[in-house]
Amino acid sequence: MKKACYKSTFAAKISINSMTEKEILRIAIQKSGRLSEDSIALFKECGIKFDVGKSKLMSPARNFDAEFLFLRDDDIPGYVEDGVADLGIVGKNVLVEYGKDVSVIKELGFSKCRLSLAVPREIDYQDATYFEGKNIATSYPNLLGQYLQSKNIKAHIHEISGSVEIAPGIGLAEGVCDIVSSGGTLLSNGLKEVEVIFKSEAVLVSNKKLSAAKEELLAKLLFRINAVQAAQAYKYILLNAPNDKLEEIINIIPGMKSPTVMPLAKEGWSSVHSVLKESDFWENIEAMRKAGAEGILVIPIEKMIL
Ligand code: ATP
Ligand code: ZN
Repeated sequence: MKKACYKSTFAAKISINSMTEKEILRIAIQKSGRLSEDSIALFKECGIKFDVGKSKLMSPARNFDAEFLFLRDDDIPGYVEDGVADLGIVGKNVLVEYGKDVSVIKELGFSKCRLSLAVPREIDYQDATYFEGKNIATSYPNLLGQYLQSKNIKAHIHEISGSVEIAPGIGLAEGVCDIVSSGGTLLSNGLKEVEVIFKSEAVLVSNKKLSAAKEELLAKLLFRINAVQAAQAYKYILLNAPNDKLEEIINIIPGMKSPTVMPLAKEGWSSVHSVLKESDFWENIEAMRKAGAEGILVIPIEKMIL
């Protein structure tokens, strides 16, 4: 009931807007939960200013042609498919579970988790055939159904909407299929993870039929998201190197192009400036120190336009 109300409020406002105002991107993000904070941070890092408040359902951006809709994550794929929202951020798990017809624009690298099967700790689990004929509690009947089918296993899927992990303890099921990140919740409920059936992260999705004006706004937004993501993947480094070791040190740096090298006031020494990939960071720093680099400074990059 509440859901239908939201939808008609948005739809009514949108049809008024489309008659009277220029086109803006409507971006659906989770109102409150594990996707919210990083979704909001991403748009803020893209320089888009908007208000966020517990009671807010919508919030216009002050410096970008966009408006944010704050929703339950489960509703986001449907709203984007229907065109009530143009874009949305949602977990891949929810997207695939609901099977809505939207375009996946970009993987965003946050809210990483997996959907896993788990059984009581004391079970001597060998392989997935354990689940043959068993009851499995989950909030993801479609993803679980696809997995069981791919393994040719027939099991009874008990769809429940929350607190799945208590199902074995109360005798509802012999196993569960639930979202796991660290595994702590499973452990504290006497369960152990036995099969990973799906890996998820937050994705940016879009409606399949955006107008030319909205496509242009999306391209502008993507340019910013790419710059933010690139910056997060790299660090800026400055170091001092003896001139006779310069070549060796520079060869360690897999920077963007060639590093900047400037002579130091101290005879026979240079300052080297470059960028390093966060993923190879420690390995490269250690190799450079071994090769004779000194005074290494590492600075986060705010934006990076490649
Ligand atoms: P809503 O009230 O919006 O329906 P919810 O309770 O269904 O929220 P959350 O628990 O906030 O959902 O999770 C939202 C999404 O975040 C999940 O669909 C999943 O993609 C991801 N997620 C869930 N649990 C974790 C976790 N422990 N670590 C990282 N990401 C997670
Ligand atoms: Zn949800």
